[in-house]
Amino acid sequence: MLQLGSNRSAIRELFEQGKILKQKFGNDKVYDFSIGNPSVPAPNIVNDALKKLVNETDSIKLHGYTSAEGDLTVRQSIADYMNKKYNANASANLIYLTTGAAAALTISIKAIVSSESDEAIVFTPYFPEYYVFIKNANAKVVEVEPDLNTFYPDFDDFENKITKNTKIVIINSPNNPTGVFYNADVIKKLVEIVDKKQKEYNSDIYIISDEPYRELLYLDAEYPCINNYYNNSIITYSFSKSLSIPGERVGYILINEKCKDADSLFRAVAGAGRSMGFVCANTLFQYMIPEVLGKTSDFSIYIKNKNYLREKLTAIGYEVINPDGAFYMFVKSPIPDAIEFSKMALKYNLLLVPSDSFGIKGYVRISYCTSFDTVLNSITAFENLKKATENL
Ligand code: PLP
Repeated sequence: MLQLGSNRSAIRELFEQGKILKQKFGNDKVYDFSIGNPSVPAPNIVNDALKKLVNETDSIKLHGYTSAEGDLTVRQSIADYMNKKYNANASANLIYLTTGAAAALTISIKAIVSSESDEAIVFTPYFPEYYVFIKNANAKVVEVEPDLNTFYPDFDDFENKITKNTKIVIINSPNNPTGVFYNADVIKKLVEIVDKKQKEYNSDIYIISDEPYRELLYLDAEYPCINNYYNNSIITYSFSKSLSIPGERVGYILINEKCKDADSLFRAVAGAGRSMGFVCANTLFQYMIPEVLGKTSDFSIYIKNKNYLREKLTAIGYEVINPDGAFYMFVKSPIPDAIEFSKMALKYNLLLVPSDSFGIKGYVRISYCTSFDTVLNSITAFENLKKATENL
């Protein structure tokens, strides 16, 4: 824990360096693409709902504890919404409210695995905290390679990495850090492999679908809800990105009603939550949930940023993985060492996260949840950076 707390994540490290650069050069001269902090405001309905709650709710209720798993009426509203929108096999009794997706993930993982012989599969490149959460549950992290053309998982590698000890597979679409979206065909293929292996080993493999970017999808496509394709599934969700409220820490765990021993799994989730002190997500924000389900911030800036960056970076000669969602873009480092490339980028006041922290080498992640001006003004820096790599 000392080591974990002493070493900041590469993303946070860069974010801190950015603060120093901004002091030195001014905010508008630093192109900070480091962190996934939404740059568009929360929709008005968020503040309206909060004001109404503060003005009209009894203070003891508003600021008091709810049950550990969250208020039942709120959980019911989520179940109703998820069933209506995604036909999600949701039930209020199988929903656990959390302080964001981070808590939802670490609780879900701890509910399922407990020892080095338990394996959890992650698809590279992946959100670095998955590693931390799996390790915290004493389990083994198993990494699957991507198909470098699509940045979907390499299905052969996936099949080979599933063993009799595999307990968890984490999927994340739209993806952090690539922005890639798993359409229904990809989900079907993944599920087919898991199903086959589950039967072969006579085991239970849980798919955890981490969905904080579910609504940040820029394609005209339906979001394939994992619960419609696979029974042993858990959705972890966060309102951080969809409503631009990451600091408020609110999300949930939703266990598929069709999951084997769903009630026991829910009790294990409650136990894991209790063991880590994640009980009663903050009450004010719990009560906000029924008012805001299905609402989102205006994502048009993200789409504008994405299109502009993609066009310009490609024209400059960068290789860009086409993002369909979230607010991340994965770009191939023009030199093999992405950490070195990220250091070079700093000289041009460009903050780019090297892919090594996502479990893969040779790329950088651009978080384009910035103002359009930042994107616009950064292009010359990207150009100069590219030229500098050519002169090495
Ligand atoms: N999962 C992914 C893929 C993320 O990118 C993030 C945050 O950036 C989280 C989970 C955690 O989200 P939250 O702020 O809700 O804890």
